[in-house]
Amino acid sequence: MILGLIALVQHLWRRQKETKLDLAATRGQLVRQMRETEHFRMAVEHASDGLVIQELDGSLVWANPAYCRILGRELDEMVGRNPLEYAFLPEEIPSEEEIRNFRYDPQSKDDIGLKLRKNIRSDGTSFWNQINVSYRKSATGMEHAILVCRDVTEQIERDQKLQEIRCELEFAASHDGLTGVSNRHALMRYTEEILLSTHQRGACFGLLHLDLDEFKAINDTHGHSAGDAALKHVARVLKENVRNIDMVARVGGDEFVVVCPGVKELEALQEVADKLLVKVQSSFAWGDRTLNCGVSIGAALSDRTTSDPENLLIRADFALYEAKRSGRNQVAMYDEGLHQRHAHETQRASELIEVVGNRQLTHFFQPTLNIETGEISGLETLVRWKHPVDGMISPADFLPMAEQLGLMADIDFASIDAALNMKVDLQQAGHPNLKLAFNASGNILEHPDFVSRLMRGVLGRGIDPHHVVIEVLETIVFGDMTDSSVPVRIIEELRDAGFRIMLDDFGVGYAGLAHLAKLAVTGVKIDQSLVRNILIDDTSSKIVSTIIELCFDLGLDVIAEGVETHDVAGRLHELGCVELQGYWLSKPLDTETLQTWFDAGENTDSSERFAS
Ligand code: C2E
Ligand code: CA
Ligand code: CA
Repeated sequence: MILGLIALVQHLWRRQKETKLDLAATRGQLVRQMRETEHFRMAVEHASDGLVIQELDGSLVWANPAYCRILGRELDEMVGRNPLEYAFLPEEIPSEEEIRNFRYDPQSKDDIGLKLRKNIRSDGTSFWNQINVSYRKSATGMEHAILVCRDVTEQIERDQKLQEIRCELEFAASHDGLTGVSNRHALMRYTEEILLSTHQRGACFGLLHLDLDEFKAINDTHGHSAGDAALKHVARVLKENVRNIDMVARVGGDEFVVVCPGVKELEALQEVADKLLVKVQSSFAWGDRTLNCGVSIGAALSDRTTSDPENLLIRADFALYEAKRSGRNQVAMYDEGLHQRHAHETQRASELIEVVGNRQLTHFFQPTLNIETGEISGLETLVRWKHPVDGMISPADFLPMAEQLGLMADIDFASIDAALNMKVDLQQAGHPNLKLAFNASGNILEHPDFVSRLMRGVLGRGIDPHHVVIEVLETIVFGDMTDSSVPVRIIEELRDAGFRIMLDDFGVGYAGLAHLAKLAVTGVKIDQSLVRNILIDDTSSKIVSTIIELCFDLGLDVIAEGVETHDVAGRLHELGCVELQGYWLSKPLDTETLQTWFDAGENTDSSERFAS
């Protein structure tokens, strides 16, 4: 009995304990659920993204405070309505019928995932709404649309701004800032594209290279703003008078290129060029003035051999050069004739590069005579190109090309060596006082090694600089006569080092007689065009006698060059010119002939020759 009682008590005690444990578990679960609910509530209320639950017909069931904030509306005024009614821009709101018929389709890709919509707030301001749509079935088994909305206006506007900047940068990188037409970079890209497509289709395209004729004059006379107006005028005229597919590009200061895709005949291209030639010359307004400018045009057409745009540009450029050479304000077509000449010049250019590089040019020497003493006073070194096929080519025929090719300094360094070597040879042959002259181009005067190499050449051979004459063209010095200009400074340095410096071709170029006193030259060579006319033209005679007198007053040497006759020599002598050079005395001679000439001279009295 007692045992039974004890067992009962123990049973009751265990049950009580188990019940207590059950209660504790339930309470824990409740607490956890409450915490979770609290977390959900916090997340929903404080999320910055808008959360929306809609029925599949679009009517809003529920939304969080963020959605209300984004839309600027109270929840009550939205519940039960389709956002299509109030969130769309007025011009985009669908008709009532469309809204009535609206249904989300959870199976359709169009109705799932991210969308970007321009929406409107209640105050009428718009914003970019990024909406993420998904679907869930509720406890009742009904399917709902769940929307997560985010105001991404700031991000979109930043992207748009970036895009605008990118576009502006792209425009700037491919266009000329002043005229707004394409630049060289865009031109090359466009022509490369055309070339690629025309090669495939076997068609051609034309290229016009334009260069304004009086641009420098406009700039110099009216100032840079007039120059800018001229460039804008030309760019506008070109754009207005070509087709949309044609490209107009500015490729240099006053140079433009027009690309005409699809042009197949040279005649058709000529028509375009002729039209542009006339149009560009039309006058344009600058302030209250009316200005004009002319243009030269070179035109070239691509063919099956055109492999890169640069090639065609070179042809158009060659034609442009031809247009300028034959009088400006004209069109020159790169036709068969011009092609032949171009090929010849290209061949010449590569030969010239080679002979200059290999120091294969030869030198002739032309003597000068002192009439007073009847003695040879010096020799001028003159370069020649002994061509294997074309024979002796004169410097006038190849120096312009050499200048374009940047070969002038090399040519002059070789002439200096020839002059100094000849000086040594003549010294050894018993002519110690002969002056040796060489011609110095602007390029060598500005060459950083010019003075040091000349000094080394002179000192190394034991030559007195006083016997070395540097002939500098009047145009080189007067072209840029400021105290700090390189030629002016170098001339002074050389004069101070004891060299003689003669101003060549004097009297026909810039001829500011007053400038003569300011320059560090030691003398002048009167240009042959003046000397030649001294007996037939009064003005030439007066200029020559004035130069001689002025040089006498300034203590400068004078040489009259291009003396061809005995009478001219006599007249110059009367005017007081002591030194003469010209065919009357001798043509330029090669080294061997010079030796014979000296030997013959030794047996003849120069004054006899003068008297003849
Ligand atoms: P320049 O320095 O005025 O040389 C005189 C030119 O006139 C030479 O022509 C000469 O042959 C020619 N000449 C001389 N006397 C007479 C004459 O009585 N009548 C006529 N009609 N002509 C005469 P060249 O040798 O053809 O040289 C032409 C120009 O080329 C030179 O004119 C000079 O400016 C330039 N030159 C020649 N060699 C060199 C050089 O090594 N370096 C540079 N920078 N220029 C050079
Ligand atoms: Ca000369
Ligand atoms: Ca000369």
